[in-house]
Amino acid sequence: MRQTAMILGTEYRIEIHKWSEDKELSQNSWAGYCCSNFPLIVIADLDDEEHFWFSNEEEKDAYFKGCLRHEIIHAFLNESGLKDNFEHVNRMGHEETMVDWIAVQFPKIAAVYKELGIL
Ligand SMILES: [Zn+2]
Repeated sequence: MRQTAMILGTEYRIEIHKWSEDKELSQNSWAGYCCSNFPLIVIADLDDEEHFWFSNEEEKDAYFKGCLRHEIIHAFLNESGLKDNFEHVNRMGHEETMVDWIAVQFPKIAAVYKELGIL
């Protein structure tokens, strides 16, 4: 997998961290996070069977992609000037429901735009 992503002109590193080696993940019970200061996106090591359990590789892959899509939306919000507008989570100012909504609906919205030739 590609290790970096260009988000509105800022390059984010994408790293896989073990829960046992990353306090941000373990202390917050997160599967991933996005940090604009470094800039860095971290996804938990999903092969860690103590903390993550999947019935098959396909399910694990889908979960990984979903997490990464979610964190990339955070990165876009960060880089477009929306870092601390809410106090929903104390270290990150984004409304999580909207982040998830964008992450989930984006492929469908892009497909409609493409179909209409307005992408
Ligand atoms: Zn989030």
